[in-house]
Amino acid sequence: MKRLTLLVLSVAMIIASTSTFAGSYPTNSEYYFNPIQTHFSWPTISRRIVENGNWGTKRTNDNGTTRPHRGIDIGPTTAGATGQSVFAAQSGTVIGIFNEGYGNVVAINHDGADFNAPGTYYRTVYTHVDSILVGIGDDVSRGQKIATMSNSGTNGIHLHFEVHAIPSITSSYNTWKVYSDVPFDPKRAYNGYLPQVQ
Ligand SMILES: [Zn+2]
Repeated sequence: MKRLTLLVLSVAMIIASTSTFAGSYPTNSEYYFNPIQTHFSWPTISRRIVENGNWGTKRTNDNGTTRPHRGIDIGPTTAGATGQSVFAAQSGTVIGIFNEGYGNVVAINHDGADFNAPGTYYRTVYTHVDSILVGIGDDVSRGQKIATMSNSGTNGIHLHFEVHAIPSITSSYNTWKVYSDVPFDPKRAYNGYLPQVQ
């Protein structure tokens, strides 16, 4: 009964979210991604995207050149609040835990076959976290708490969250290699649905 309820809810969410998405998808990973078949759970309790926290917003490098933001920044439910949970967005295997570039980082690889997206592989990356509860090689379940939101490696408390398309489920991620695979707008992993920017 519980599984059936979850299934009905999931289908309802897919229908609702598909119909509310009015944006356009980026083209950098079309070959991997099927937004209808794939859906992840939200990695925090908070639904608050911080100012300039969306995918693609401009970031300035130390030498003055600019780059696009490669993820989304989710703030705690109230700005400055500490210790809020960070959850695995899907079931998968912890493939990276390190401190480089984005403070403390946890990376999880996901086999799309586990959630009705056979033949596709993804990586979710959770950065600026603290109090990490998992280790490399751990299998985690969707919605499992993996860390807390923090400000490691940055100023304000927020979760910098990325979703990547990866060529194989076994590819490792032990250091920050932002251009070694294909990140895409995380809103695509939620069938286009994301909460309003606040
Ligand atoms: Zn960010």
